[in-house]
Amino acid sequence: MRAAEIQDDLSDILVTEEEIKAKLAELAVQVAKDYEGKDLLLVGVLKGAVMVMADFARELPFHAPMDWMAVSSYGSSTKSSGVVQIRKDLDTDLHGKHVLIVEDIIDSGLTLSWLLENFESRGPESIEVLALLRKPDAAKVEIDCKYVGFDIPTEFVVGYGLDFDERYRNLRDVAVLAPHVYS
Ligand code: 5GP
Ligand code: MG
Ligand code: MG
Repeated sequence: MRAAEIQDDLSDILVTEEEIKAKLAELAVQVAKDYEGKDLLLVGVLKGAVMVMADFARELPFHAPMDWMAVSSYGSSTKSSGVVQIRKDLDTDLHGKHVLIVEDIIDSGLTLSWLLENFESRGPESIEVLALLRKPDAAKVEIDCKYVGFDIPTEFVVGYGLDFDERYRNLRDVAVLAPHVYS
């Protein structure tokens, strides 16, 4: 697929690469302050959070080990069901750790709510969530997300790690996927 065709699949650009970079730097300052002197573990949720993790972690001024979790949430390709299955579990024992979950987007909140409950049972010292994007009007469960990048409208977005059918993840900006692509 060529660049021009990819552009045809997108309607609005919601958040640009520059805006993301600036926001992650801002969040990192906050996180660095909140976790100073603490044993922080970053947990990324594959695959969507790969770009957020890469850019956010490099803004932190101290060691921040990373671990990864892969989950699949059953449902149609543009809606999650909240029925979650672990595809790849963490390598790290969470006991006594200060865990910061790094997520691409909170939509219904169902996946994260499941993940939070699952992590709580592993005895961490604390758990917080950082999400680049959040769709406030799509929430089905309330997620206490301490660090939020951008609140966006309830539309299906792609880019910066977010895919549709494994495509568009490598776009630099976050854009609304044109409905003609999936309807
Ligand atoms: P939730 O359980 O909060 O509804 O969403 C879980 C996952 O669905 C997100 O982590 C993300 O991977 C995917 N998702 C939710 N909304 C979008 C969206 O607008 N675009 C893309 N590409 N994925 C989304
Ligand atoms: Mg995700
Ligand atoms: Mg996806």
